[in-house]
Amino acid sequence: MTVTGNILLIEDEQEIADLLELFFEREGFRLIHASTGEEGLVRMTERDPRVVLLDVGLPGMDGFEVCRRIRADSEVPIIMLTARGGEIDKIVGLELGADDYVAKPFSPRELVARVKAVLRRSEERSLMPRIIEVGEIAIDSGRREVKVEDGVVRPTAREFDLLWYLAEHRGLVLSRGQILQAVWGYDYLGETRTVDVHIRQLRKKLPGVPIETVWGVGYRLES
Ligand code: CA
Repeated sequence: MTVTGNILLIEDEQEIADLLELFFEREGFRLIHASTGEEGLVRMTERDPRVVLLDVGLPGMDGFEVCRRIRADSEVPIIMLTARGGEIDKIVGLELGADDYVAKPFSPRELVARVKAVLRRSEERSLMPRIIEVGEIAIDSGRREVKVEDGVVRPTAREFDLLWYLAEHRGLVLSRGQILQAVWGYDYLGETRTVDVHIRQLRKKLPGVPIETVWGVGYRLES
């Protein structure tokens, strides 16, 4: 499956931008670089990127605020670029709707792999739209939205992927490691807290969703 398209990088360090441009263009992507959050938001509407790579430490408007503004009207996958050891940054980013994060310094190869994984998942989904009903809610993989009693909720890309995975395996107890592997597509980071943060967001957005915490193991969507 070929994956191409615009990738928007919002990052104030020119060196990182130059390096990533090289790697992404070699893989058939076009990297659009914005060096401030303000510029990034403009490019966001102009260029309709398929993935956004967003630095947390930007001059002026910081990455969190940019993330918040993008999420106000877009479900585009966002990968945050955080400082090494910035545990708080990671959690805040995920809570604001980022899909993933990569700690600096990162390998460009790994970042390219993450972007491809995000794109592959969204393409696979769009090929086979389905609806799964769980209790009072209906999860629509084609529209990537959830119908609830009084309307429609649109989770972020990653939250939706997570919910969909739970729904496809409803009734089963899934470990955090299993979920991380299936939804994030990697397990070497072992940061299972990422799963917990996304589950919390889903519960907040979808109070009717019957996600049960199975202590010491993981989660189960009741069928
Ligand atoms: Ca920076």
